[in-house]
Amino acid sequence: MSGQSMTGTFSAGDLRRMLSRLRDVMAGVGAVQGRLDKVVALIAQDLRADVCSCYVMRAGEVLELFATYGLSQKAVHLTRLRVGEGLVGEIAAHARPVALADAWSHPQFVYRPETGEDFFRSLMGVPMIQAGRVIGVLVVQTKDERPFNDWEVETLETVAMVIAELMAATQVVKREELFQSEGNALLHVRLAGAPLHPGVGIGVAVMHKPHVRIGRIVSEDPVTEQYRLHTALGTLRQEVDAMIDGSRADAEAYGDILEVYRMFADDRGWISRISEVIASGLTAEAAVQKVHDDTRARMMQVNDPILRERLQDLDDLANRLLGILSGGHMRAELPDNAILVCRSIGPTELLNYDRRKLKGLVMEEGSPTMHAAVVAKALDIPVLAQVQGALSRIDSLDLIVLDANAGQIILRPSDEVIDLYTAAVEARAQQKEAYAAVRDLPAVTRDGVKVSLNINAGFLLDMQGLIDSNADGIGLYRTEMPFLAMPTLPDVNAQYALYKQVIDGAKGKPVTFRTLDVGGDKIAASSITGPEDNPAMGWRSIRLTLDRPALLRQQLRAMIKATEGETLRVMFPMIASVAEFDAAHRIFNLEMERHIRDGGRAPKTIKVGTMLEVPALLWQLDALVERVDFISIGTNDLMQFMFAADRGNTRLANRYDTLATSVLRMIHSVVTHCKNTKVEVSVCGEMAGKPLDALALLAIGCRNLSMSASTIGPVRAIIRSASLSDLQPFVLDMLKSEDSSLRERFRAFARDRGIAVT
Ligand code: PEP
Ligand code: MG
Repeated sequence: MSGQSMTGTFSAGDLRRMLSRLRDVMAGVGAVQGRLDKVVALIAQDLRADVCSCYVMRAGEVLELFATYGLSQKAVHLTRLRVGEGLVGEIAAHARPVALADAWSHPQFVYRPETGEDFFRSLMGVPMIQAGRVIGVLVVQTKDERPFNDWEVETLETVAMVIAELMAATQVVKREELFQSEGNALLHVRLAGAPLHPGVGIGVAVMHKPHVRIGRIVSEDPVTEQYRLHTALGTLRQEVDAMIDGSRADAEAYGDILEVYRMFADDRGWISRISEVIASGLTAEAAVQKVHDDTRARMMQVNDPILRERLQDLDDLANRLLGILSGGHMRAELPDNAILVCRSIGPTELLNYDRRKLKGLVMEEGSPTMHAAVVAKALDIPVLAQVQGALSRIDSLDLIVLDANAGQIILRPSDEVIDLYTAAVEARAQQKEAYAAVRDLPAVTRDGVKVSLNINAGFLLDMQGLIDSNADGIGLYRTEMPFLAMPTLPDVNAQYALYKQVIDGAKGKPVTFRTLDVGGDKIAASSITGPEDNPAMGWRSIRLTLDRPALLRQQLRAMIKATEGETLRVMFPMIASVAEFDAAHRIFNLEMERHIRDGGRAPKTIKVGTMLEVPALLWQLDALVERVDFISIGTNDLMQFMFAADRGNTRLANRYDTLATSVLRMIHSVVTHCKNTKVEVSVCGEMAGKPLDALALLAIGCRNLSMSASTIGPVRAIIRSASLSDLQPFVLDMLKSEDSSLRERFRAFARDRGIAVT
């Protein structure tokens, strides 16, 4: 091996020829090992290196020497390095290349006598990345102290990508072998997460945004590939522009990141990096994938959450471009038993799937009050969030058991596990039957205290939930939900038609319509508000509709018309002061007057109330109860603001408990105040639908709860199994406690009394 650099002697043409030879070897016949041996020999020869070694990630995050040209053959399958150990381990750990003229003097160098490494001084290694994961390391070494330049590193990276993709495509290494504790492909793998909706689902994995499989990797015709790239980029830009201008159909899904898309799609650096990789012999799609994998691997090292969020945008954009290039559809037909796997998902995105085929939802991120979770509850599908590594470890069509009751998924389960869970699914069906058996019985405690159970709704499909659960009414109708799914804000007639269907569907049961509550995690508001630094506390909800009264007036007009001769219950969200309530009420009165003036019939009864979800209102209760007909405590937002904890932040999802002493004391004082002043009060946050929490609410005086329809059965059952005379003194006494959460003590108390706490 000469000490001379490859620059000038190894051209882009040479690289292309090498890539096509590599492809032929990999695609050839014969034993896997034999093919890999040929591959490393070919690389060493073409790059004029003394050594080329391929390390592959095995179970337990260990890199195993899989094939080598130049090191001792005895070391193959024997030499193993942990991720982070030695230079090879370092490359895998950081997904970054290393190029050293004198590797021996590097502090990370680890000497392995069995390899005969004494003779080799220089080392250049790059990660092998597939579908965003490091699956191995490719290394070349020389006897001489040889400096490597950027072009050489790039060349080796391209070769590594080709090997990685071909390894995956030809199953050189079984996918299962590449994971920690998944070394034995027969063993199932357990991943833990946070349950957002209970239940068990058995099915096959469907990736919400699947990794697009690349058919062709190597091309000897860079001119055609460049042309394909630029044509595809043109289509991508058109798609992004169409999303930004006018069509808001995808706005909910992409929201305020659309501009970032445009930025990326026009980014010269990004495009020229892809072009360079095409010039080196890859197809346009393989080049997009390579540049994306490199960027992704590097960004994964960064701890900045905002940058990491941008990764999602990059993923989306690269996937879109890959979809255009491969001419394929991004979303396949759902199989009959689908477990949807995603990083995170918007409510309308979730609704785009056929609900009858969805058996569960697994998210890498997600939190209990996110709107996709609210929708999943309405659909009654089990949801597991915060499953670390879900996207990298689960592959399309993997068999999955999702056990949201135990907060886990079991990947590639054995027949025994499936049998076990099939039995559990049947048991759940029986439990559902048990709830169905109490469906027509009142929600009344053993000592005769009656509780009104209502559902939270937002879509017409929720009306079925009202019938199935036999709830007393709709305690919260989130009118923004349909807004989020529509390309433009619906006009008065469209809203009227919708609200009328809701009123008719409720068949005389009360419906509480909440006016538009966009903003915060309901990102469609960004189409009105533009991006904000802190949208949860931004120009959202009633703040927005008071400033744009036409929106509010149209909505109220539609509600009034839809409830002619019926009961109209209107509720304003995010009210922070009585002045805001007064302003909203005035607008309501104006619309009522207008309705009557225009010859409309008045609703039979009118009740105007407010959500209590901004803490400031807690200290204006005296004035508030004078003005409102009812108050509904929205614990999702109220908790977010009380604890200063973003309700959508995965890391905070379990940090603060709804059974915190502070929360219960606060609700207790509001409920007592309302009782004394004879103002109707209810709780409509997610906590109302958790059976144990519902009991605690009952104990502190709540008699009206509103929750997702699927939780009515369990809450009705638990209420019927408890006695208030038992619960009340215990919970009121606990309120004096200094404990931050009362959950465990309360759970033990309930269990002792034979109350079935799930
Ligand atoms: C709440 O904040 O508790 C609530 C019920 O409203 P939403 O979840 O729609 O913000
Ligand atoms: Mg709210």
